[in-house]
Amino acid sequence: MLKRRSLLAILGLSSLGSAMAALLSRAAAADAASPAADPAWQLSDSQWQERLSPESYAVLRREATERPFSSALNAEKRPGTYRCAGCDLPLFRSEAKYDSGTGWPSFFAALPEAIGSKRDFKLIVPRTEYHCSRCGGHQGHLFNDGPRPTGRRYCNNGVALSFEPD
Ligand SMILES: [Zn+2]
Repeated sequence: MLKRRSLLAILGLSSLGSAMAALLSRAAAADAASPAADPAWQLSDSQWQERLSPESYAVLRREATERPFSSALNAEKRPGTYRCAGCDLPLFRSEAKYDSGTGWPSFFAALPEAIGSKRDFKLIVPRTEYHCSRCGGHQGHLFNDGPRPTGRRYCNNGVALSFEPD
């Protein structure tokens, strides 16, 4: 918040100030995770904190980003299913996983109906945030520089997933 306030103070001196302030307030509004589509998964903040590790909570419910190369799932190559660490919904299959070199588990496709997405403005430039379609837990960001056949790159936080080998 301190950072945002000082940035606003600086921007306030420029003619771009009000436009940037609008973008920043949209960024602040995106701080919390997306609402759960499934009423059974509309848990309170304290319920989520009880269910999840602090690392998973920060990503799934607060849209934090884990440090690159910090997740063991980055190097996972076995066949299997990647599930949401919040509600266990299957999100990705190993066949769509590839090494993007970014340090985050990366996929070129998600399972059908598994994810929802929204634009966020946290880096000022709009990005596509995506989340579990059932519990709303934040998973990562979607980019258009992935490999064939989709050209998509789902850049996922490892702590937001659990892996189940076949
Ligand atoms: Zn979920």
